[in-house]
Amino acid sequence: MSRELIDLAIERLREELPNKSKSWIRRALVRFMRGTVREFNENTWVVRGLPELGDKYPTYVVRLRDGRYYCSCFESSWGLRRRSEVCTHIAAVILYRNYRRLDSDVYASVVNIECVDYYLEIPSELRGKVRVVKSVKVIDATDKLNPRHRVTYVIYSSEPMELRARLICDDNVRELSLRLARTRRYIIELLTH
Ligand SMILES: [Zn+2]
Repeated sequence: MSRELIDLAIERLREELPNKSKSWIRRALVRFMRGTVREFNENTWVVRGLPELGDKYPTYVVRLRDGRYYCSCFESSWGLRRRSEVCTHIAAVILYRNYRRLDSDVYASVVNIECVDYYLEIPSELRGKVRVVKSVKVIDATDKLNPRHRVTYVIYSSEPMELRARLICDDNVRELSLRLARTRRYIIELLTH
């Protein structure tokens, strides 16, 4: 496992559940790092119990239903107290899924520009198939009403392809020919967060 991906997976978990304590995150991380999560099917995971974390059962089943996670530990004697919480079995599953997503392949191209006004247009028939994310930094705010930006566009898709895009940078309009090459999802997150 890669340290960088684990850090990003934790960051996403924290964004999703910002009120959780450090010890809660630590317990979720221990479960994940010990390889206790196994995917059973698309919406079900089996998490091996760890007695040192207070687990009384050898396995727990986490299910995703209508966008909500449910854990079999909700049905245990502590169920009433735990039902309203997200247990660390669920958190371990979230970490596992985040990690797998960050580690997956995508096909991407990166465009860097510096301008005051900017716009990248991809052919409308590719919308839904090709995604564009950008990161923007102000590099010169001497003219407060028209600051100059450094813009990084990442154009990506789940499949390799070549496409044409129109890049507008101030008064300059350019036709770009982009080839989306294989990379990993976390590279995109690093470029745009
Ligand atoms: Zn649980």
